[in-house]
Amino acid sequence: MSIQLLAPAGSQEAMVAAVRAGADAVYLGLNDFNARRNAQNFDEDALKDAVNYCRARNVRVYLTLNTLVSDQERTGALFTAKKAAEIGVDGLILQDLGLVSLLKRAVTGVELHASTQMSVHSPAALEALHALGITRVVAARELDRKALAGLCKEAAKYGISVEVFVHGALCMSVSGQCYLSAMLGGRSGNRGLCAGPCRLPFGAPNGTGYDLSLKDLSLIDYIGQLEEMGVSSLKIEGRMKRPEYVAAATRAFRIAIDEGKVPQELKDLLKDVFSRSGFTDGYYTGRLGRPMFGVRSDEDKINSAKTLSEIHGFYRSERQSVPVKGHIFIQQSEPVRFTLTDGENSVSLEGDVPVKAKNRPLDKDVVEKQLSRMGGTPFFLNSLEIDMQEGLMLPLSQLNSLRREAAQALEVKRSNVPKREFIMPELAQSAKPGGQKPWIFARFYRVEQIPENLEGVAAVSVPLESDFESINLPDKKLFIDIPRGILSEDYIVSRLERAYNKGYRAALCGNLSAAVLARRLGFEICFDFGMNIFNSDSVKAAKELGASSVVVSPELDLKSIKRLSDLLPKGILAYGRMPLMLTRNCPGKNGAGCGGGCYVTDRKGIKFPLFCRAGFSELLNSKPVWLADKMDELLGLDFIMLMFTNEDKAQCAQVIRQYQAGGVADDFTRGLYFRGVK
Ligand SMILES: [Zn+2]
Repeated sequence: MSIQLLAPAGSQEAMVAAVRAGADAVYLGLNDFNARRNAQNFDEDALKDAVNYCRARNVRVYLTLNTLVSDQERTGALFTAKKAAEIGVDGLILQDLGLVSLLKRAVTGVELHASTQMSVHSPAALEALHALGITRVVAARELDRKALAGLCKEAAKYGISVEVFVHGALCMSVSGQCYLSAMLGGRSGNRGLCAGPCRLPFGAPNGTGYDLSLKDLSLIDYIGQLEEMGVSSLKIEGRMKRPEYVAAATRAFRIAIDEGKVPQELKDLLKDVFSRSGFTDGYYTGRLGRPMFGVRSDEDKINSAKTLSEIHGFYRSERQSVPVKGHIFIQQSEPVRFTLTDGENSVSLEGDVPVKAKNRPLDKDVVEKQLSRMGGTPFFLNSLEIDMQEGLMLPLSQLNSLRREAAQALEVKRSNVPKREFIMPELAQSAKPGGQKPWIFARFYRVEQIPENLEGVAAVSVPLESDFESINLPDKKLFIDIPRGILSEDYIVSRLERAYNKGYRAALCGNLSAAVLARRLGFEICFDFGMNIFNSDSVKAAKELGASSVVVSPELDLKSIKRLSDLLPKGILAYGRMPLMLTRNCPGKNGAGCGGGCYVTDRKGIKFPLFCRAGFSELLNSKPVWLADKMDELLGLDFIMLMFTNEDKAQCAQVIRQYQAGGVADDFTRGLYFRGVK
């Protein structure tokens, strides 16, 4: 099967534009539970129309259900999935571990796709995805060519297909690991409401001034390579973009796939219709750094306006993409009969009885010419059988209306949806909050931070890449903190093996690959905040994937956290500078360079430190979360994690004391624990 071209459909018009410009599949969202809740989106009736339209044209439809859902929202999300399955969508694109696991049990005949929001960078994650019933993974956008090839190779073993973003906006953060919009304004990117704060001025010293804003991606020159390595689907980003954009991008990639080469004028048009000072292929080619950054310039905007009318031509008319066969029967004393078939569905229509010709009898050429005129329909006539007796006459209008009506009837017939089964699954039970006092988990970004006195601390974690061998804490439970961004699994495995040999038995895992690798080596696993545990079914899924405890999503409010299932011990990030982004590009490199102590400042001069680690950088919040004066509110949690990023040893010691004695601080944030996110 040839590679699939998957286009965004933020609206009915964009969907039609995508299909007419040559998409093999479209993805779209209903009003809720999708990662672009601000797009125009579809209601139930519009989804039905869209599915019928697409089915008739051999175009697959995937529904985005790729947000985190709360306990209360699970039923709604399941009913949405049920409706979509019955309407006939071909696949569901998912982020939430709990929802994935519920849907695996609920639905048959509909593919489950792992959204790019699941942050899959390396192959080990595939084992977990397979166990969750996933049949397609949308790769994280930060992968280079070699990493993508590796992912494809491993995915084939599980029968999982790989989808790759080839065009459109790039997030600064690894998707699924961005909390910037949520923490700054309560609008969660993981809930489809990203306000795009990364496009505002955040400057690194001597940087571009917009050091969190990446250019748009375009991999149009690498389609052959992607096909060769086994990528199954090429995805165009842009559900918030106008239909013209969708049409231009779809057409350009259609030509790239079919003909191997795109005319320069079309490439120029693609750049003009929307870019941010041009495109980047930096992640794919491994050329990171300043050339990847860009904002939308005035020139970009002027160019866009000029392109629109030219692009309308790309989707003004039907793309005749479905081959059909015809058969016409014209015999004396019998009604004329026209049959049209696509190989699976066929329709047969009868017309008038032909009469004997007085002067100009019907000839085969005329019949063929009239019946071949399929313009304005999704069909083209591949072959036609003419079963005709000579010397008869039939008005041409009769042939035309038979053709038209047959095409219409076939289109309707093709949109029939096969029966789908959906059994409402049982939800994991929410818990009644207890009143126990949480134990303290101290997490250190650097070994040098660890105070001599760790009284009251039950567990400690240190980074995988640090000199953990020098640590001697016999009475603490020791965790190895695996990076959330994994570039080399070999490196992770070799470090984990070393840790195991030194007696370490527990690991903090912020992504699926980390969890799978650690589990294979026999580590006890704690699912870190990067796993975005947001509901009781994600707790249950974590348990099924081998976790022994979870650090829940920092986007949940405390009330909801305490009601999450008690299938596993749960904790929160109760102290520390919350990582707002995980990014492959250190913004520091745009200016003075990355050498520790990197940071960006916002428009108000507020400083956001960067912590650079293992090829990724974490953008940290300007202020730490502080809850030491709210210890009563934390009763009922199993543990609280104090996360030390850029504090020194004395500060760490003081914070640990204050979280036992109930201290106050002056410059802090409560995170989202008392307000939650939208
Ligand atoms: Zn840096």
